[in-house]
Amino acid sequence: MSARPSPESPETPIQLVATALGEFLAAPPPGTPGEVVEALTLMAGNPRDPLSPRLFFEAVEQAPSAISITDARATILYANRAFEILTGFSRAEVIGQNEAILSNQATPDNVYQHLWRTIQRKQTWTGTLVNRTKQGGDYLAELIIAPVLDRNNDIKYFLGMHRDVTKLHELEGELRRQKARIETVLDAAPVVVVLLDAAGQVILANQEYQRLVGDLRGQEPAQTLSTALREQVGLDPLAECLAGRAFKDLEVSIVLPGASGPRWFSCSGTPADEVDPSARGFFGRQKPGERRMLLLANEVTARRREVDRAHLENLRARLAEQQLAHGMREALAAAIYQIQAPMNVIQAAAAMARGGNASLATLAGMLEEISRSGARALDTLKAALPEGPREPGVMVNVNDLLRQVLVLATDRLLAAGVVVDWRPAHLLPELPGHQDSLRSLFKHLIDNAIQALGESGRPHRDLLLATRLVDGAVEVAIQDNGRGIPFEDRYRVFEPFYIGWRNRRGRAGMGLAMAQEIVTEHGGSIEVDPDFQDGCRILLTLNAVPADE
Ligand code: FAD
Repeated sequence: MSARPSPESPETPIQLVATALGEFLAAPPPGTPGEVVEALTLMAGNPRDPLSPRLFFEAVEQAPSAISITDARATILYANRAFEILTGFSRAEVIGQNEAILSNQATPDNVYQHLWRTIQRKQTWTGTLVNRTKQGGDYLAELIIAPVLDRNNDIKYFLGMHRDVTKLHELEGELRRQKARIETVLDAAPVVVVLLDAAGQVILANQEYQRLVGDLRGQEPAQTLSTALREQVGLDPLAECLAGRAFKDLEVSIVLPGASGPRWFSCSGTPADEVDPSARGFFGRQKPGERRMLLLANEVTARRREVDRAHLENLRARLAEQQLAHGMREALAAAIYQIQAPMNVIQAAAAMARGGNASLATLAGMLEEISRSGARALDTLKAALPEGPREPGVMVNVNDLLRQVLVLATDRLLAAGVVVDWRPAHLLPELPGHQDSLRSLFKHLIDNAIQALGESGRPHRDLLLATRLVDGAVEVAIQDNGRGIPFEDRYRVFEPFYIGWRNRRGRAGMGLAMAQEIVTEHGGSIEVDPDFQDGCRILLTLNAVPADE
């Protein structure tokens, strides 16, 4: 009887015995007792018998899991081929050794203690150990140890099966890291983010959402926002998303307990489909996954309050203007009524004088009456004159003010076909001044230029605005190639009620007089440049307003 290992795969001693037995039984030497052949046949097993021990052995040997059989103290008696491949140890190296040969000392002691307590209670232990290969590499071993009992129910052997789950562990780690990264990003976002299932239950929410839960004293913000969207915008957000429709930037207000005013949120919703996580989905035969809603709510309370405040301011200003106009109308009506009395007396006096039947004393009395009534009417008119609010001095940048006035005048300049040449000084110091007064000064001068260009009838209409620093003062030049101001009128134009326009509509002749007043207030001067012939150039200088202002 000779054992011949196959050249391809080296056979184990058990295999060698099995092969040798097979060969012997295939052609037993003549004279072999029948009982011996029978006993050996039982040992080898019938290869055609599905329950033959040899078949079991081959199945274990060729199994893809690392399988070992130990005695009751974990001394290795057998290891299969997968064990050799995974651990790097040959069978010859491990047989007779304790399984501890695979330990790399990184597994905590209590794991081994639990392992041993379990298997010694004749129960199967399943767990994960950190193993080492013969080459010194680490791998995570998912291990099952099952006790094998003898006829007396005592532990005879242990059957160990393990596989390398290092990759799986790494993937799980990567998944955990990804989740942590997503959570960090979501938590850092200054927006409420919440994922709801089809029943409106919260699956995932960020910190901003949790903060809102606190503000709402435990009330679910998703429900509060959904109700607000339904009631204020007429949209059921969940129904919308479940139907596959997204919505964006819908503003709603919610009232928080104890808060002074409502808080505003701009809400957007996106349908999110999840894949079917069940086992049947493994080969792509999944049921349609559940649809979720990703709800984002961006708080816009500050902006809304600003808009409301601006609206109120605007309303207040309009009311004040209306009140002023109303008051002036009333005062004018009263003055007209009061002026009627001296007019009547004047007419009567004139008639008496013409008839020659009025003494000087009578006429003098009448004149006094006229004077008194006239003074009363004058007082009424004076009282109606609105007193302009005193503007506080602030640091102003003349370039900025001119630019603002130019922007406001853009439409009119375009309509009048005026080409603007804007040449601000690159460096202009800020000076203390009254910015509203200066703005109205610049607006008036630009309005004058537009009218002068209109009245000139010139096809090419140019407006030049320039600033520069001259001896610490800011000089502004406003120059147009319009109709110009005659040389002899260059001082008169600053007199009150002087009007040199052809079209006098809406002109009271006070504009340049007031402009001069504003410039004087700013310690400066204003003049019509006598050297400029091709139109009109107004030159003005501005200094800081006096310190006592
Ligand atoms: P040890 O000091 O030997 O053991 C650590 C602790 O384990 C001890 O403090 C004690 O509480 C307990 N313990 C150890 N031996 C016994 C025992 N005979 N009876 C009761 N308690 C005991 N270990 C691995 O690291 N990797 C494996 O892949 C692996 N596979 C195994 C497969 C089988 C079938 C069996 C039975 C055991 C396996 N073990 C495996 C466990 C191994 O036998 C050692 O117990 C373990 O490696 C710890 O060895 P150690 O030298 O580091 O410490």
